[in-house]
Amino acid sequence: MKKKTDILIVGTGVGGLFCALNLPADKEILMITKDEAKNSDSYLAQGGICMLRSESDYDSYYEDTMRAGHYKNREESVDIMIRSSQDIIRDLIGFGVDFATENGELAFTREGGHSRPRILFHEDITGEEITEKLLGEVRRRSNISILEHVTMIDLVCQDNICYGTVCRAADGSQMVIEARETVLACGGVGGLYEHSTNFPHLTGDGLAIAIKNGVELENIDYVQIHPTTLYSKKTGRRFLISESVRGEGAVLYDAHHQRFVDELLPRDLLTAAIHKQMEKDGTPYVWLSMEKIPEAEIKSHFPNIYKRCLEEGYDVTKECIPVVPAQHYFMGGIHVDQYSHTSMDQLYAVGETSCNGVHGANRLASNSLLESLVFAKRAAGQIQEQIETAKVREDILDIVDFSQYTDYEAIREKYREAIMKETERMKQEHEQSNHNEAKCG
Ligand SMILES: Cc1cc2nc3c(=O)[nH]c(=O)nc-3n(C[C@H](O)[C@H](O)[C@H](O)COP(=O)(O)OP(=O)(O)OC[C@H]3O[C@@H](n4cnc5c(N)ncnc54)[C@H](O)[C@@H]3O)c2cc1C
Repeated sequence: MKKKTDILIVGTGVGGLFCALNLPADKEILMITKDEAKNSDSYLAQGGICMLRSESDYDSYYEDTMRAGHYKNREESVDIMIRSSQDIIRDLIGFGVDFATENGELAFTREGGHSRPRILFHEDITGEEITEKLLGEVRRRSNISILEHVTMIDLVCQDNICYGTVCRAADGSQMVIEARETVLACGGVGGLYEHSTNFPHLTGDGLAIAIKNGVELENIDYVQIHPTTLYSKKTGRRFLISESVRGEGAVLYDAHHQRFVDELLPRDLLTAAIHKQMEKDGTPYVWLSMEKIPEAEIKSHFPNIYKRCLEEGYDVTKECIPVVPAQHYFMGGIHVDQYSHTSMDQLYAVGETSCNGVHGANRLASNSLLESLVFAKRAAGQIQEQIETAKVREDILDIVDFSQYTDYEAIREKYREAIMKETERMKQEHEQSNHNEAKCG
């Protein structure tokens, strides 16, 4: 089967949705997703989204982002993100996103690695609030349609030009989606890990498909572990205890209920300290106490965390909860330029799947929703400029060898192996260059 559209967007998280909403209304846009439209990591974001509050905060926000990223960030990308933040927040409010306010002004919270409060939030379900509003708007637009339970399994490309994708529908049938421009917005890699806060269906498909087709990747060994997820003996997705809980005063205790670390260290440093403490104490978790946060604030700012912990048998207003680090975010990805264009013509990548260098080696808390939105909008602007001159292939079905897609399980395994192998290769490359830097420095 073959479908045809002007622009194909793979993924219905904030990256894909915001890109779609910023594309011209006279273009036909098709969005596909592996699962239901709302099952994306964007939906799970708790803590919030950063915004430059005023010019006087620019240097500090820039420095916090760079320091968290170990100065491996692309400086120009960081600048673009921070400078675009107020526009993006205005757009979101225009789409009906309801951020918390205080005395009629936007309210700001703080998370680890931030020198001052600059994070907007909606209770502890900021991602759900943003994604719901964007998805609602997408569903109202007559030029955008969404196909659920359709999985991209390959690109259709030749001579470094992308003409669309090969997909697999829920019934196992294959289809080609022909597009003048294709946007990969397929999220992170948590599904490849045993312990992760991500949806398990997010298995880095965009990366594997990029590797297969010679699209350039960047820093795919840069994986972020979140320091505090609720400890559980059950398998499956780990429940995040947002960093803003620590930003509002929660503390960490060792096995003897003594504080052992500055709770607002950047994520990688805090994770290392927690692992060290767990090893010292011989425990599979450390304790997190919210006793310093007033009960009313816990219930109004963190209602979801409060409720979920109660379901697991812990009343956070009265007792500590066990927490443990888990895979959370992916800083590397498909290499893109400042307009989210990949190394292949007519192919873009946005959101967690892409690497525009904003996060460097470690993401600063609450920068990822913002980064996804800023660079999705830039991709949309670039697509608008390029689409009229995009190349199309009348013989698209002739360049696809469908016989290679019959065994889906084998494809999944092959893709997983390709990501692992490339991750290991990049890790070794980074270790070698760090070693060389240390020797020279
Ligand atoms: C628990 C949690 C809390 C977080 N909290 C925050 C926070 O407070 N602030 C912040 O800034 N960031 C936070 N993040 C990170 C942030 O949510 C994500 O980085 C961001 O939402 C990524 O958006 P995205 O559009 O790139 O991907 P996602 O929202 O993950 O969407 C990926 C989409 O791609 C689809 N897809 C994947 N593979 C395929 C395929 N092969 N074919 C078709 N479709 C495919 C998926 O079905 C999905 O629709 C959090 C993340 C998690 C997991």
